[in-house]
Amino acid sequence: MKIGFHHAKITRYAGKIAASIFIFYLFIQYIHAKPASQKGIVDLRNYQWDNSPVALDGEWEFYYGKFYSPKQFKLLKNLNTQYIKVPSSWNKYKINNHKLPESGFATYRAKILLSNNKPHSLSILIPKLDSSYSLYVNDTLLAEVGKVGTTPYTSIHAWKQTIADIPSTGNQIDITIHISNYYYAKAGITNSIILGNKQSILKYYIKSIIVKFFIFGALVIISLYHLALYIFKKYDKQSLYFGIFSFLMALLSIIFGEFHIMLIFPKLPWNTLVRITYLTMSLGLTFFGLFIENLYPDDVSRKLFKTFLTIGFLYTVLIIISPVFYFAKLLSLFLCIMMLYGLVILFIFTRAIKNNRKYAVFFLSAFFIFAVAIVNDMLHFLHFINTTYMVPYGFLIFIVFQSFILANQNSRLYSKLEKLFSEKIKLENIAATFQNLAYIDPLTELPNRRRFEEYLHTEWYRAIRNQTLLSILMIDIDYFKKYNDKFGHIIGDLVLKKVAETIKSCIHRPADMCARYGGEEFIVILPETEIIGAYRIAERIRKKVLDLKFPAAITTSSKFVSVSIGCTTEYPNPGKHWDYMIDKADKKLYRAKKFGRNRTEK
Ligand code: GH3
Ligand code: MG
Ligand code: MG
Repeated sequence: MKIGFHHAKITRYAGKIAASIFIFYLFIQYIHAKPASQKGIVDLRNYQWDNSPVALDGEWEFYYGKFYSPKQFKLLKNLNTQYIKVPSSWNKYKINNHKLPESGFATYRAKILLSNNKPHSLSILIPKLDSSYSLYVNDTLLAEVGKVGTTPYTSIHAWKQTIADIPSTGNQIDITIHISNYYYAKAGITNSIILGNKQSILKYYIKSIIVKFFIFGALVIISLYHLALYIFKKYDKQSLYFGIFSFLMALLSIIFGEFHIMLIFPKLPWNTLVRITYLTMSLGLTFFGLFIENLYPDDVSRKLFKTFLTIGFLYTVLIIISPVFYFAKLLSLFLCIMMLYGLVILFIFTRAIKNNRKYAVFFLSAFFIFAVAIVNDMLHFLHFINTTYMVPYGFLIFIVFQSFILANQNSRLYSKLEKLFSEKIKLENIAATFQNLAYIDPLTELPNRRRFEEYLHTEWYRAIRNQTLLSILMIDIDYFKKYNDKFGHIIGDLVLKKVAETIKSCIHRPADMCARYGGEEFIVILPETEIIGAYRIAERIRKKVLDLKFPAAITTSSKFVSVSIGCTTEYPNPGKHWDYMIDKADKKLYRAKKFGRNRTEK
């Protein structure tokens, strides 16, 4: 049963995952299959140029510790030519069984053979290399990044992507590149140099800018969104960590690969640039870890996590305080640790799925794609494979998944709130009904004595505060016992109801109120009413009851059912309890009875 459930879940997500992978591929750009360079010669005579540029990868001529100018190549004989694989770092390369040091300087050279089908105008794109360089095409110096030198003191280190137009040539191009490095842990032509017709190179360049800045913008907005969530929900640490992590990924998206960040900050010193680059990785590890820990706190092994977080933290400190060379040298080690860390996170997700945690399947699939991108980038960075940087794309997909989860969470929250709210209203209605039941006399539907007393209480204090008069009428049906005896209780009840309606119809002001006080007794409160007004209302009630023309059981005072009314008016006495006014009205009523009934006594 449980297995079946998981199965359904996985197939449900499979479509989404497939769609994500498809989007992923849309973003990745392919350089055409490259005719590899051999012994420093790239033969493009049969290359179908179409619109796709070609990567000048393969064996290049290599002269370590020498700067040969294009002219010197023509003059010098018996050069000690070595061949080196491009792209790669020269410190992986051995001369006479000695590994080359990272620092030093060298000349790279390749001959490119073209035919008459070559494009009219050719351009060359040199991605960010890890060192400063000068580029010569044939005899012309076409581009300089930083300043190459034979000593650390005569060189300036810089990272930048460049595009240069190649002056019109015959069917052979000589490319000579001088490179020097004294500061970084990698050196030489560490990325693929790309040659193509001018338009295709520009297209390639522009597309990379659009894609990278699109991702940058998306990630920045996601980051701001999560940080804003955190600001409004301070306890929501998960949003804080995810917001910071998204920001780091946004930075990474315009750093890794083409270093488009240089378009925004062209004057950024190289040292700072490298530090920012490395910090996105070390801090990224830390904040992603914190995010996961917050997401599934019960599935995480705390000790292991602390270790990874400490490593991330220590590396961060090292990046800030040590010279570039040292922390750059440690990168490979750090990346290996990150791989382990990734495995641990994969393990956490599987455990979360086992423990049936919310969205765990979702997160695992998203993370898996992200992890593939990370592994790709590491291998690319370490020159095991030559693909392209994918982490920002991978992360974008991760974010898409994350926003699904977030939207789902929010909509659930809203419907829950709506439900709670409607339940609250229902409860309030029920409470109100109960309160009404407790306040209303069921037979006459007038307020009962309890409600009347509460009302009198407030009106009493209001009259004291405002120094106004308060009138009370006490109304009693005459000879009602006899009436019941003669006509029965059912008819008696009917009379009670009619008398109640009649009394109600005689009072009009919003503050006036009548209530059933007891058996066949009613009471009326008339705030801010002087004695004449109160008496007039009492008389109106008395006459209207007579007008009902219910035949009386005893006809001594009237042919019809009548009422006697005691009427009292006062400025309330703050020293007394309000019930003394009821007493007074009652006494007046007693007098009305005594003096013959069917009358009002004031
Ligand atoms: P008096 O003129 O002095 O007021 O005489 P009375 O008979 O009206 O006064 P008494 O207080 O002796 O009797 C009140 C009667 O009112 C008693 C009872 O039969 C009747 N009564 C009280 N409550 C109800 C009721 O809810 N329904 C009906 N049908 N009769 C009621
Ligand atoms: Mg009575
Ligand atoms: Mg009575």
